[in-house]
Amino acid sequence: MLGPVILAASRSDRMRRLISAAPVTKQVVDRFIPGESVDQIVPIIRELTGRGLELTMDVVGEDITNPGQAEAARDAYLKLIDHLKVLDLGTRAEMSVKLSMFGQALDGGHELALANVRPVVEAAAAIGTTVTLDAEDHTTLDSMFAIHDELRKDFPQTGCVIQAYLFRTEDDARRLAGNGSRVRIVKGAYKEPASVAYQQKAEIDKAYVRILKTLMEGKGYPMIGSHDPRLISIAQELGRRAGRKLDEYEFQMLYGIRSEEHLRLAAEGHRMRVYTAYGTDWYGYFMRRLAEKPANLRFFARSMISK
Ligand code: FAD
Repeated sequence: MLGPVILAASRSDRMRRLISAAPVTKQVVDRFIPGESVDQIVPIIRELTGRGLELTMDVVGEDITNPGQAEAARDAYLKLIDHLKVLDLGTRAEMSVKLSMFGQALDGGHELALANVRPVVEAAAAIGTTVTLDAEDHTTLDSMFAIHDELRKDFPQTGCVIQAYLFRTEDDARRLAGNGSRVRIVKGAYKEPASVAYQQKAEIDKAYVRILKTLMEGKGYPMIGSHDPRLISIAQELGRRAGRKLDEYEFQMLYGIRSEEHLRLAAEGHRMRVYTAYGTDWYGYFMRRLAEKPANLRFFARSMISK
């Protein structure tokens, strides 16, 4: 019951101000978002890649209100790419972007988001890496997939995310399972109505497995975004059945969640990519992490009360 309430709060400006200003919030936030600036995140990048993990970097931010903020988002990613160039990690450190942070919801937002994200994708390609377009709420997805198609004309390695909880996703998966595609499958983290999305965990998990099968049997590169041990072993089995080698798909998990499992999968020879978020506009990202696991909220509430 708590999850939907927290997800509703993740879109509330009043809650944003209240929670962001609480002095203890920071300690809990650090578990999921281990830095506010690129200088703070570079040592984390070195540490994680030094342990054999790969990364997808997210400069946190979404739901912006003017085009200047979209340009600032573009510039923040370009600055990150300058640092990644020095680290020379190639595809071991790619980037994830939310198009809402690039202006997608503003007037003329589709074109604005494409214009702002293109230089990031270009700069990523110039240092031998790539970008994945995150999936946000269902109203944004037609635009996201159209931008993905457009970017892939010049940068075919550009990835995208699909969400198992949406009814539309099995069709999207079939369309995206072609040669050279890179698709991350996740359960889905937004509050979606019953008219477009499964509401029960069991139904979402079943859809996830069907979609995973389509991706594994297809010709693209599946990226399995989940911490769910059951889905991880099913993915390994489906990979085997589809005759895929271990480097023909990868696992992805979020920084701060089941970190021992990141290392275990990497030690087994899997490609394991850690989604590592940093930046100051962490509210939406943080609230979705609280909504995914009520125990996080209890920990957060306890730390507020004990101060
Ligand atoms: P769950 O059944 O939710 O969790 C399985 C187990 O993992 C839990 O029992 C718990 O032990 C652990 N766990 C999961 N979440 C947490 C948490 N927050 N805190 C502590 N433990 C936890 N969603 C989108 O809508 N769009 C995206 O673009 C997107 N990108 C993602 C990228 C990556 C790499 C990952 C891993 C997730 C992404 N998500 C995205 C979030 C996703 O949709 C789910 O909300 C999230 O992954 C939780 O689902 P799960 O598969 O881990 O399974």
